[in-house]
Amino acid sequence: MKDYIKYKVELKTLEPFRIGASKDVMSAFDNPIATIGGRVVVQGPTLKGFLRNQIEEYLIDQYSGISIMKPCIPSSERTLSADEKTLIASGKYRAKGACSYSSEDMKNKSDSICPACYFLGAMGLNGFARIPYLYTEKKPEELYSVRLDRAKGTVVEKTNRDYQIMADNVCFTGILEVMKYNTVNDWMLGKVRSIQDKKKLDGWLNETSKKFNKKFIDLSPEELAEEFLVERICGEHVIGGFKSKGCGKVSITCSKLKASD
Ligand SMILES: [Zn+2]
Repeated sequence: MKDYIKYKVELKTLEPFRIGASKDVMSAFDNPIATIGGRVVVQGPTLKGFLRNQIEEYLIDQYSGISIMKPCIPSSERTLSADEKTLIASGKYRAKGACSYSSEDMKNKSDSICPACYFLGAMGLNGFARIPYLYTEKKPEELYSVRLDRAKGTVVEKTNRDYQIMADNVCFTGILEVMKYNTVNDWMLGKVRSIQDKKKLDGWLNETSKKFNKKFIDLSPEELAEEFLVERICGEHVIGGFKSKGCGKVSITCSKLKASD
């Protein structure tokens, strides 16, 4: 049996907004917006990448100097860029790229999993949060198209159908699920997971929360979700394409659903 805390996530566009899809030969647009089943969508992986960045930034800002609280860079060691290596050398990120866990491959196993991967998952090990796709009921035909003014670098509205874009004041919604416990593998949010060789694996939980001034292992699942997920995702942010062209500002809110919802 599993139990989840559920939050309704609402993303409202405050500016024109675009998350592009790869070109579809059937589309009338050269640069279509992302849709699934005809509905415009903020894809889960896009939202997860955004949330992950937010958590990394928070860990670096609030927990610098505590090495087990450092986030990893979620790519393999071989593909780290020169800039990423600089971030590692400066002590902001863990060495070696993404946290990874494998019961077979002890050599490439990380000593411990970073807080970002604890919630969002590491290579070979699930996390506790399920990041949703956010949908809007606005139909694609309600979208307006734009092209870029090559001289000014700004968006020109309602001209050639070069780019699809969402208007401002559009609301996308989805449900964020945070697992509180799983009785099959005995995982509990906020407790060290009972997998092989594990004392250090989730060792960050023995540190102290700056927000609640208690050890993480003594926080409730709701408090952990609040510090690392809800407060990281909520607020005004800039997401998606055309950021430098006056696009992408959104306001995100999360409301906890009752267990029956
Ligand atoms: Zn990690």
